[in-house]
Amino acid sequence: MDAGDVGDDLAKVLLTEEQLHRRLDEMASEIDADYAGKELLLVGVLKGAVMVMADLARRLHLPVEMDWMAVSSYGSGTRSSGVVRILKDLDADLTDRHVLIVEDIVDSGLTLTWLLANLRSRGPASVEVATLLRKPSATKAQVEIRYTGFPIPDEFVVGYGLDHAERYRNLPFVATLAPHVYSA
Ligand code: 5GP
Repeated sequence: MDAGDVGDDLAKVLLTEEQLHRRLDEMASEIDADYAGKELLLVGVLKGAVMVMADLARRLHLPVEMDWMAVSSYGSGTRSSGVVRILKDLDADLTDRHVLIVEDIVDSGLTLTWLLANLRSRGPASVEVATLLRKPSATKAQVEIRYTGFPIPDEFVVGYGLDHAERYRNLPFVATLAPHVYSA
């Protein structure tokens, strides 16, 4: 899927496919260096983190396991509800494991704060966070993010795993939506 496939739904491309891939190369090098000699469990947060997980994991030289969790904090709207529910839990036991949570985007940080506390209560050796995108409000929240791809403005974005009402996840870049999409 590309920009031409979604008519006039997009307002602006914020991050191109090339920019995303270049930054993921850098993040993967950092992670490889930081976890050298260790085995890492990547925990992807469904569904948004699917693309970043796939592209980041393939760039790592480390042996990794991948597991997935689904939580809900947003409905089909654009505001965080602050309520987090586990829709799908991990299959892996986290005891003594080095865990890296892989996120698509951190906005208020509510989801992540909850997720960190939840995973840390399971007896892991360590839990850190890698997120592709980070909005300004995340800097205010007391949430520790070890690896950030790009700080972005406080706008609702889609593409590269991120949806609006379940659409646009398969765009290869990150973009903002035209106003008419919200009023549809
Ligand atoms: P937080 O709890 O940090 O406010 O929100 C985290 C979740 O909200 C993300 O994992 C993502 O699902 C959703 N979210 C936050 N901002 C955006 C955005 O700009 N676009 C999309 N598609 N989802 C977002």
